[in-house]
Amino acid sequence: MRADSETIDPGAAEVLARGCSSPVKTATGVWVRCGSRIKSRCASCAELYRGDWAAIARSGVFDGPVEQFSFYLLTLTAPSFGQVHRVPRSGVPVRCGCGSRHSARDAGLRGVPLNAATYDYVGQVAWNRDAGVLWDRTRRRLRDRWSTLEYFIVREWQDRGVLHIHAIIRIARREAPSATSVRDAARTATAISRVDGSLVEWGTQAKCDAFRADGDGAKTIWYLSKALNYVLKDVATDADDVPVAVWHHQVALDDAARRMRCGVTCEPQNCSGLVHQRYGSRSQVVSASRRTRSRVGWSFTGLTRTVQRQMRRAWWEMRSHTPDAPKPAPAPTALENVAARARREVVTRGPSAP
Ligand SMILES: [Zn+2]
Ligand SMILES: [Zn+2]
Ligand SMILES: [Zn+2]
Repeated sequence: MRADSETIDPGAAEVLARGCSSPVKTATGVWVRCGSRIKSRCASCAELYRGDWAAIARSGVFDGPVEQFSFYLLTLTAPSFGQVHRVPRSGVPVRCGCGSRHSARDAGLRGVPLNAATYDYVGQVAWNRDAGVLWDRTRRRLRDRWSTLEYFIVREWQDRGVLHIHAIIRIARREAPSATSVRDAARTATAISRVDGSLVEWGTQAKCDAFRADGDGAKTIWYLSKALNYVLKDVATDADDVPVAVWHHQVALDDAARRMRCGVTCEPQNCSGLVHQRYGSRSQVVSASRRTRSRVGWSFTGLTRTVQRQMRRAWWEMRSHTPDAPKPAPAPTALENVAARARREVVTRGPSAP
């Protein structure tokens, strides 16, 4: 249920006042933030989400002894499931497998298969489904080699409707390898699908760049800030109008995702799993390695989204017990925990594809 602009409930008005443009009423009757990650739906919630993750990302770089670590920006892609049109975002036209030269004006073909009849839609949605298991194997393999490895990872949709990942990796200097070693160890990791037992692999396109302080702290911080902005750029993106050819491609992917099995016991026709609505994807968009008894985790200070919510709630409770305190902006909220639950439900139903 959405807030109605004519008869505004005081609870909804309060959430509106905090910046959320479309408060949502939960089953228990509490008004919460809509929790959208998409800027055009709610700039405030999208920014809150992005801001929370940006703070976690930064705390794994700047809140510790940066000179004792090497940092890497690693990008891993999915295999090919059939040729797609190559359309540049700007600049000079590029030659495409279809024989034409595409410029940015052909955006309506970006990521669209050359031949939909032979395109491996089934393979692609299965890969999206199993991408989480593949990353799990990959990070284990990396940690087997470099025990101090921590990471911050963003999963991004490519135009063709498949996930790829950007990870910022941190390894202690004393065991820090070359960027090529990290890239090759990651790219050649494989997994076995828990659903159908097939082999899951990364595509051949992989990239890894290293960032080191080497006495030039300012430069390193500049590089790392750039890397962080890069991995976070798509965390809260807008979904534009969809061109017809792209739409056909998305429908085919949707269809394949609805028919696949999401788990060993899944009966697709009776299954309400959200995986069937997200081109097979089940992964969170952003995550970071967690603190454990034996590990620091990505954030040097142990910052997580749970901690951030607790801080907001504590702030809110303190505010409500000291009504005379000066009113700071922006107001964190006691409802964030409920909002988080609602957010998970709302967001995962939203279009997260290109
Ligand atoms: Zn909102
Ligand atoms: Zn083409
Ligand atoms: Zn299912």
